[in-house]
Amino acid sequence: MSYLSSSKVPHQQSNHSGIARSIKFIAFSLAIAIAYALMAKVSINFATLPGKVTAVWLPSGLTTALVAWCGRRALLGVALGSMVGSLPDLLTMNPPLPFPSIIFLNLAFAVANCLQPLANIAVIRRLAGLPPTFTQIRSVLVFISSTPVGPAISATIGITSLCLVQVAPWESYCFLWLTWCLSSTLANLLFTPPLLFLQQQSQFKLPCRWGESTLVLGLGLGLSWLAFIKGYPLEYMFLPIFIWTTLRSGGFFTSLFVSLVSAIAIFANSQGLGIYVANSPTISFLLLQSFIAVCSVTTLVLAAAIQERKSAEILLQQTLASLEQQVADRTAELTREISDRKLLETQLQQQVRQDQLTGISNRLHFKEASELEWRRCKRNQQPFSLILLDIDEFKNYNDTYGHVAGDACLIQVANMLSTVVGRAGDLVARYGGEEFVILLPETNAAGAAHIAGLVRQRLQEQQIPHCGSTVSSYVTVSMGVATYLPSASLQVDDVIQAADEALYESKRQGRDRLTATINT
Ligand code: GH3
Ligand code: MG
Ligand code: MG
Repeated sequence: MSYLSSSKVPHQQSNHSGIARSIKFIAFSLAIAIAYALMAKVSINFATLPGKVTAVWLPSGLTTALVAWCGRRALLGVALGSMVGSLPDLLTMNPPLPFPSIIFLNLAFAVANCLQPLANIAVIRRLAGLPPTFTQIRSVLVFISSTPVGPAISATIGITSLCLVQVAPWESYCFLWLTWCLSSTLANLLFTPPLLFLQQQSQFKLPCRWGESTLVLGLGLGLSWLAFIKGYPLEYMFLPIFIWTTLRSGGFFTSLFVSLVSAIAIFANSQGLGIYVANSPTISFLLLQSFIAVCSVTTLVLAAAIQERKSAEILLQQTLASLEQQVADRTAELTREISDRKLLETQLQQQVRQDQLTGISNRLHFKEASELEWRRCKRNQQPFSLILLDIDEFKNYNDTYGHVAGDACLIQVANMLSTVVGRAGDLVARYGGEEFVILLPETNAAGAAHIAGLVRQRLQEQQIPHCGSTVSSYVTVSMGVATYLPSASLQVDDVIQAADEALYESKRQGRDRLTATINT
């Protein structure tokens, strides 16, 4: 049951939506037909030449835009509009036309008017893509070139049909063909762009400068009155006005403005007024058309050129911004890399001057620090002291307790030594093996002896067992202390050597003691 009902509902819905779509399509086609017929009526009212030939065949402009928007869906409306629009004229011909000829012409015009926009749009689609973008010069040039293609086809069908049923004489074929073709081409040039602009939202920006817009519009209308009604040859003055509008308000408003001025010119011309009224109606017709064509083409190309330039500027700015961002990112990366590297360098510098086992300074650091402090003491004429100390019978210690315990003992002694000095410039370093050195700048013999005494005292307090020693049952050290007053003839190595000799003397005298040597 539920299966049946559920299968029925979509069917009904699709039926309904199908009907709705059909109604919409009919309404859409009727709207096009009415618009077409009205435009045809207006165009014929503006006709300047005998035989109801008009300067601009307005419906062509509309149909090209419609086919660009909706494709072939617009064609039924176009055909209907063409048939309705041309029927009154065909019915009231003098002499009256036979009925088959009326039907034939009515159908031929409908076909011609449908093919016209189809041909134009096919060319645009093929060469520039749809919809034609009025923001690119290439696309605008393609659009302009396409405008006579459809009209040439429709003129051929239309005029041939007229001649076939002998409404028009074959001798005037070329002239009639040209006027049909030109009037449709102009409509495409003039009225299709503003309609297509509506589709390109980005172009459709209202001019905010109302005062300026009103002034420019007023100027245009005033000039139109002077040129097209009064007949003063001032049409060249439209050039700066149109250029100004293109620069300030873009393509859409300019194309509207050009269309408005052209409409005034066409209307005035049809009333026998203005600068384009010449002795020959043909010349008058061509002069008017060339004015309209030049204004339209120039402003369309100019608007596209300005837009292209703007787009290029925006692209350039975006590229610049992205490049700046990349540089900023890279700089941040490099800064980080540099600070990481500096940190690493500092760590390496520290490591290279540190004894790996005990963590106190190594011989390299001692060497650099002692040279520096020696020079300082020399400058200030201050005494410079060194204590070189060596653990007694350490080989036995290793042999007794093992190498790992030996390492631990070295660490314990190093830590102890670090506690006995505290002044700026003082330094405890591992000189090598089980030998240590204490650098005591600006320290006299008494000061150095005091530190050496502290070393012995603290070591005794530690009571590190050393049962293999012949000196004591605890670890002991022998020390050599050297105190020198720096002079030009002395080097820091002389002090080291003196301390070494003093240490040797302590060893020689039985270990666990200190020997001092003074040179001041
Ligand atoms: P003396 O009283 O004459 O100084 O005798 P000594 O045995 O201390 O001197 P010697 O120079 O004969 O031996 C030093 C020993 O120190 C030899 C070596 O195995 C030991 N030694 C040197 N560096 C290290 C170390 O990093 N760790 C350990 N565990 N032992 C070390
Ligand atoms: Mg030694
Ligand atoms: Mg030793």
